[in-house]
Amino acid sequence: MIAPDLETAISRLRDLIEGARIIVPFTGAGISTECGIPDFRSPGGLWTKNQPIPFDAFMESAEMRDEAWRRRFVMEESFAKARPGRGHRALASLYRAGKVPALVTQNIDNLHQISGIAPNDVVELHGNTTYAVCLDCAQRYELSWVRQKFDAAGAHAPDCDCGGYIKTATVSFGQAMPAASMQRAEELSRNCDLFLAIGSSLVVWPAAGFPLMAKRNGAALVIINREPTEFDDIADLVVQHDIGDVLGPLIAN
Ligand SMILES: [Zn+2]
Repeated sequence: MIAPDLETAISRLRDLIEGARIIVPFTGAGISTECGIPDFRSPGGLWTKNQPIPFDAFMESAEMRDEAWRRRFVMEESFAKARPGRGHRALASLYRAGKVPALVTQNIDNLHQISGIAPNDVVELHGNTTYAVCLDCAQRYELSWVRQKFDAAGAHAPDCDCGGYIKTATVSFGQAMPAASMQRAEELSRNCDLFLAIGSSLVVWPAAGFPLMAKRNGAALVIINREPTEFDDIADLVVQHDIGDVLGPLIAN
């Protein structure tokens, strides 16, 4: 059912959370927009202006690698300033209360970790843009280091000592989904009794399969998203209000 108003939404959500033993939140861009992180896929978002650089183009061309890093540094101002919003803080509260074993996210902004969820308990389907890795040897690099090398070389991306290319730890279009994360997300979805889909349009496959898996395994499904999703019909509760307003009351100190 679609919650008729914010108050009803909050009270139904509270009841479902109180009655649940294992809650798995699944988050998308919508939870981070109040933190100043743009929703890349939305109309007017970055990706509609700047086509994303596919993985094979990154691998094939030094110009594309330079361009990928140039774009990343343009975004750094929003990423560096961003702090967890009310949604992040509410989910961190549920995590601390022991009801959330882990959380699955499509976001790459690191805000769930900053809000207090252990990095091991944040299952990132699309990786993380707040650090970089060598694509060959997996050596981790901090962005400040990459930035310094990039600037010193006249806007050219540095390579790893092993000769591999250094890329943000995100999953680009055409790059394989991280198998371990996919598997863990699936297990979490199958074994929860309440699945909270928050701020995701639920259209990006394979991530879109998780709410369905949860529902088929007997979990209650809550969808909190500004716009309708194709799973609204099978959801136990659909909330089309501002995420911060809906989850804010769940923040515990
Ligand atoms: Zn390397």
